[in-house]
Amino acid sequence: MRNLLDAYAEVAGPDAIDQLRQLAAPLRGKKIVHVNSTRTGGGVAEILNRLVPLMQELGLDTSWEQIAGGDEFYRCTKGFHNGLQGQSVSIGESLQRAYEEANARHAEAHRESLEAADVVFVHDPQPALLLRHCPRRRGKWVWRCHIDISRPHRPVWKYLRPIVDEYDGSIFSLAAFAQPLSHPMYLVPPSIDPLSEKNVPLERAEVEAVAGQYGLDPERPTMLQVSRFDRFKDPVGVIEAYRLVKAFVPSVQLVLAGGSATDDPEGDAVLAEVRAAAADDPDIHLLVLPADAHRTINALQRAADIVLQKSVREGFGLTVTEALWKGKPVIGGDTGGIRLQVVDHHTGFLVSTPEGAALRIRFMLHNRAKMEEMGAKAREFVRENFLLTRHLREYLALIVALISGNGERIVLN
Ligand code: UDP
Repeated sequence: MRNLLDAYAEVAGPDAIDQLRQLAAPLRGKKIVHVNSTRTGGGVAEILNRLVPLMQELGLDTSWEQIAGGDEFYRCTKGFHNGLQGQSVSIGESLQRAYEEANARHAEAHRESLEAADVVFVHDPQPALLLRHCPRRRGKWVWRCHIDISRPHRPVWKYLRPIVDEYDGSIFSLAAFAQPLSHPMYLVPPSIDPLSEKNVPLERAEVEAVAGQYGLDPERPTMLQVSRFDRFKDPVGVIEAYRLVKAFVPSVQLVLAGGSATDDPEGDAVLAEVRAAAADDPDIHLLVLPADAHRTINALQRAADIVLQKSVREGFGLTVTEALWKGKPVIGGDTGGIRLQVVDHHTGFLVSTPEGAALRIRFMLHNRAKMEEMGAKAREFVRENFLLTRHLREYLALIVALISGNGERIVLN
């Protein structure tokens, strides 16, 4: 079987893989443990599913553990999750006890490997308490926070802060997501996996078939936004921009693709608002897709002429990276992590209003050559900055730094 690193070399470029090999060389045989709370579902598991085998292939003795618990444990950690993201939550004592017990139990079962590890990455709050149960730990422990905790519900942060403060360091996705802590803090932005179903290259026939299946006319320009039906993603603003464009480019069609909103009352309400705004326009295609429609989204992103992510508030905005990787310049809201990805006038345009978006869309539709030039830059920009291989490189660099201590110089060979 072809190894994983070769597969990534083909898309990320041989240099990216050489850098990984160089960084990994002094780390051969080092014991690295990742701990999170699930093997499937959610972005963290998705990343670890790829990152762990790659680290193993590079010669690091890497393992991945999942903490588990009962109903009360998950209710508690869900409460932490919502609270850290700013929701006012109340977490009762019995839930908190379930959290503490699940961490104690996991530590009991895995103490040997955790205490022997050179570096332990503890992802998010679920397993954060493990550190306290490993008093004879040999290695460095890093808390990897994947969410935006810039405005936490105070009682939740008051409980968790002393727990995570005991780590040797923490990692956040963006500076804007962090909280002050008394140890070194690192920034590692998210990434996409170029070999996943969402991002692999597709045959033209498949792209056309998916577009046809949803009633899109291949002869006409298509605008697309892929997003949960959430007000912060401003789907109604996208419809307004589309209408402004349509006055000048009558053939334009719009796709708003989002997940099923049935388990999210607010999602349902937003979807209803979007339906009302779309009225009966036959050129607006509202697609409510199943959660695993990765290939469909891949095809829609490739079929689109114009990709928007007109969020008014955004964390990182993975949909932006996904589109840029497919060579599409993105018209993105001037907010959050979109600003890191859309380099105004180079990989896309930053906008704040439907009018601004419409102006840029018309510009792009009338300047196909410029659009292609920007699309090529967009893809290169992702190749250098937002692929899984860069993510791994930063983890390796961090491990090298942690293991090398405070020396002024780190020698890699
Ligand atoms: N996504 C999906 N189906 C949908 C809507 C979104 O699979 O109906 C994916 C999208 O391709 C991206 C992720 O979900 O990979 C959304 O991440 P992003 O950071 O853009 O936004 P979030 O939903 O996390 O705010």
